[in-house]
Amino acid sequence: MSAVPEPPLICPVCKSDHTYFALKVKDHSVSGEIFDIFECTQCSLRITKNAPSEEYMSAYYQSEDYISHSNTRKGLINSLYHFVRNRTLSTKYHLIERSTGIKSGNHLDIGAGTGAFVQYMNLHNWKSTGIEPDTKAREKAQEFHETNLLPAQEFENLPHESFDAISLWHVLEHVHDLYPYLDQIRKLLKLSGLVFIAVPNYTSFDAVKYRANWAAYDVPRHLYHFSPASMRYLLKNAGFQLKRIVPMWWDSYYISLLSEKYAGSHAALLNGFLTGVVSNAKAIINSESCSSLIYIAKKG
Ligand SMILES: [Zn+2]
Repeated sequence: MSAVPEPPLICPVCKSDHTYFALKVKDHSVSGEIFDIFECTQCSLRITKNAPSEEYMSAYYQSEDYISHSNTRKGLINSLYHFVRNRTLSTKYHLIERSTGIKSGNHLDIGAGTGAFVQYMNLHNWKSTGIEPDTKAREKAQEFHETNLLPAQEFENLPHESFDAISLWHVLEHVHDLYPYLDQIRKLLKLSGLVFIAVPNYTSFDAVKYRANWAAYDVPRHLYHFSPASMRYLLKNAGFQLKRIVPMWWDSYYISLLSEKYAGSHAALLNGFLTGVVSNAKAIINSESCSSLIYIAKKG
């Protein structure tokens, strides 16, 4: 009796079934499990194969190392993470002001973590609301940033056409159902509003250099791995008009350092820094080759 062939993996962005194996990646931060990453030949999205469903995913966030939900400054990587995060708060705020052309308005931060950016926006004349699915992160937001964040289910209950800016800093790669999610964001945006979507870029210099050790694959928590081409396809199909793509310079250093650590480097700090420099130098010439990119879009 012959085995039943596996059904092809369908690309969630362009619905093509022309997907092929690209590389194997280890979950370095929590489980140590290995996952296959497939690539779509039509839109170039990369997909984590057999990623856990939403119901089972929470086990893969149970780590002291999952530092976007922590406030500890212990160790070099954590210190660097917090340095980069604080440095990027003002950069993100200025980007939102410059892009929207307004100095105050309604802002929504989806995947707000411990609320640092929501607090920052509120301290700078914006009315900012944050959504965060993790209960502990919401408690920490209260404790460290005096900020009330809403649980994930409130995403469906927010008033339509009420936000001037909606930000998702490294969130979309964690979202299971991309189109319904983006559809809800479109409904929440004002006609003149902008969405800011930051995602890692697997076509960046550092991603190509580190291959399976590239820290921003972060399987299985990252379900999808975007290229500029796949993001253009997704945004257009979801009813958005892409305005601009902006590089996230600091991510190159942080991701390169973490990737060096995963690769077992004995000089992770120096090598990671040097790779970050090269990655950013290349991104000056071609901004779409930066480690992480922010896609700024309006309703199409
Ligand atoms: Zn595709």
